[in-house]
Amino acid sequence: MRNFVYHSPKNLSDAIDAVTESGGDILAGGTTVIDLMKIGVREPSALVDITGLTDLEGHEIGADSLRFGALARMALVADDPDLVTAAPALTESLWKAASPQLRNVARLGGNILQRTRCPYFRDTAYAQCNKRDPGSGCAALDGGVTSHHAILGGSSACVAMYPGDWAQALIAFDAAVHTHGPGGRRTIPFADLHVLPGDTPDVETILKSGEIVTGITVPVVPALKASHYLKARDRESYAFASASAAVGVEMDGDTVRDVRIALGGVATTPWRARAAEDSLKGKPLTEETAREAGRIAFADASELEGSAYKIKLGADVVAGALMTAKSRAPGGK
Ligand code: SF4
Repeated sequence: MRNFVYHSPKNLSDAIDAVTESGGDILAGGTTVIDLMKIGVREPSALVDITGLTDLEGHEIGADSLRFGALARMALVADDPDLVTAAPALTESLWKAASPQLRNVARLGGNILQRTRCPYFRDTAYAQCNKRDPGSGCAALDGGVTSHHAILGGSSACVAMYPGDWAQALIAFDAAVHTHGPGGRRTIPFADLHVLPGDTPDVETILKSGEIVTGITVPVVPALKASHYLKARDRESYAFASASAAVGVEMDGDTVRDVRIALGGVATTPWRARAAEDSLKGKPLTEETAREAGRIAFADASELEGSAYKIKLGADVVAGALMTAKSRAPGGK
């Protein structure tokens, strides 16, 4: 039995004070923090339950941007038919994440901050894990099974894969994260939120103590409508990505005017494949150029033993996603 203090603030200001003063964890959907508490990976002294902050619920489709409250439920957003039309990569990446039960309780703010599924991080029987216990080593790199570890963005201290799906759609479409903390409000480009593991894999984001994610915005661009999230996984019903891609295209006749490519299941953070995007701009989008973009997306991948299969799989996923996105673009068939 581990005791912790439970806070249930009625407004954002009280929530920030409670998190700052207690040093506790934030509780929303609970699908990460409760999970980690049950297995002994997190032992917070306090939980600050922000589900009473109903102002942070809901989402809105505007002419210039899509706005999502941090407490919007994954299932409700994924099922919005207007959003399915406006931004298919966003809704597909939500309904391909987790199980229906989890999507019903999980909130968008927590979803982007979910922790890795590295089995050595999640099992305290393994003493070596730099992410859980800084300086202790890495059981995965020290002869462990690495079939679901990252081949992009890893370091000699950690190769844990970022497990989220929605984040790939957010980084592909230049989303911004809005926060409120002891230092006031700020807006963070989504691409800057997560940090590479480097020598400090225990530090996963640039969020400061007491800072609470309040919402996410995504600018509306033509490529959003012709977008797709393709996810390859061990079982179709419910599994983390072996490799995935969030893509979108804007065509100018036969040539690519704008293209977005982000990779999931293969990197330590949400991952934008800009070199692959550049290889397509101003060129026709064909099976051949899509395959070449997929190859370029993984040109810098490390052939981690156990995860090397992700290079070919990931390239195929990128190519397949691009062709589906093209079919959704005006005149793209
Ligand atoms: Fe821990 Fe990262 Fe190594 Fe997994 S890969 S054991 S999370 S340090």
